[in-house]
Amino acid sequence: MGWPEGKAHSNQRLDLSLVRSVPSKDSQDETPKWGESPWTINFKVRRRAFPESVDFAIVGAGFTGLAAAAWLRRLAPEKSVAVFEADRIGAGASGRTGGMALAESAAGDLPSLGNVLAGLERILAELDIDCDLSLPGAFEIGRSKGLKNSPIQWTDSGTLRVVKKVPGGTLDPGKLVAGLARVADERGATIMESHPVTQIEWQERPLGHAVVQAGGSRCSAGKVLFATNALALELTALAGRAEPKLTLAVLTEPMDEKRLEAIGLAGGNPFYTVDLPYLWGRCLRDGRVIFGAGLLDADDSLDLTRIEITTGGAKNLFESIERRIHNLHPELREIKITHRWGGPILFRENWRPVFMPHPQSKNAIVLGAYAGHGVALSVYLGAWAAEASLGRRKLPSWGSLRK
Ligand SMILES: Cc1cc2nc3c(=O)[nH]c(=O)nc-3n(C[C@H](O)[C@H](O)[C@H](O)COP(=O)(O)OP(=O)(O)OC[C@H]3O[C@@H](n4cnc5c(N)ncnc54)[C@H](O)[C@@H]3O)c2cc1C
Repeated sequence: MGWPEGKAHSNQRLDLSLVRSVPSKDSQDETPKWGESPWTINFKVRRRAFPESVDFAIVGAGFTGLAAAAWLRRLAPEKSVAVFEADRIGAGASGRTGGMALAESAAGDLPSLGNVLAGLERILAELDIDCDLSLPGAFEIGRSKGLKNSPIQWTDSGTLRVVKKVPGGTLDPGKLVAGLARVADERGATIMESHPVTQIEWQERPLGHAVVQAGGSRCSAGKVLFATNALALELTALAGRAEPKLTLAVLTEPMDEKRLEAIGLAGGNPFYTVDLPYLWGRCLRDGRVIFGAGLLDADDSLDLTRIEITTGGAKNLFESIERRIHNLHPELREIKITHRWGGPILFRENWRPVFMPHPQSKNAIVLGAYAGHGVALSVYLGAWAAEASLGRRKLPSWGSLRK
């Protein structure tokens, strides 16, 4: 069964010779231009020969692409799957994320979306992935209507208090990327790192098939899943239709139990503001705390990769975030910041994820644009995309962009 809507155009080419994925390392040192996140991706992808043809080609090895690959091989081990990754697994948002596992989507619940967190737990259990998922609930915090007994009382453009506890929690994104890649790899998917997809040719015979050009080689694919999120927007036909940005985060030195208790984070609940200025964060198991805020605009994916986090607007934003953290609570006045980093994020106008056929082929799906709400959702929808690509499930009505 084909995917709904869309129509294959005969031998249309999409040339992306300017494609760049994550920014290269600074030539002076080994620090990536977007900085170093605290996560470790402890999995080395097996080297395999470049496949000449596959049933399913997946572009991008973040949570979305890797979850889809692992799920496809689980459901249909007889089908061949290749994941083409421009850099290395987790090089985009997935290896740079905060790792808060949140329910629903950035636009709230959506028709037929189902229970995202329960779905994530089920997928992780079925794939046997341990990524320290813990779901004690997430704190929504705000400057008004705070709970009287709020564990959080912070000074930040008013007094921030817990407004509501909602379903959610945290996981270790490095372990999640590694776990998904391990399962996909062990179950026989070919993961080609350092293979940026630069061109797709849509075929007339067989109709809707594609020739994927990656890292200078060509692979014929029955179906394609685009999982590049804020990057390669020309490839996904999202250029000008969704907004790519770089978002920033910092990590503190470890805090002891007493200090975590004093600032209201001893329960391990991640938090995010429901009003502005925005602030989100979470604890790590060793008492370090990630705080995040701030968005840097980019005209397109290429512009996004050019942002350097040590200069200009990014430098100013980091100074502002750190000032805010130091002023939140007396216990944080002298807290040291050990890591500063940024990562790509994609927004759609109504905050809903994009989950639709590629405009140029009924055999290709575009999935992404989760805003800051993509950790649980990318895995959940990545598995859904695998089921849709096998003709076992429909794409949701809310995933398409208006024409
Ligand atoms: C700093 C930060 C904090 C965040 N915090 C949270 C949070 O706490 N909770 C939450 O729910 N969400 C959060 N998010 C959002 C969440 O991390 C993302 O929505 C999610 O990781 C997206 O996964 P993905 O696989 O779709 O995209 P990505 O992880 O960005 O993967 C895309 C991949 O495609 C590759 N690629 C790009 N171009 C090409 C090409 N031409 N050819 C081949 N490969 C290509 C890239 O190298 C990359 O590996 C955060 C995001 C950031 C940046």
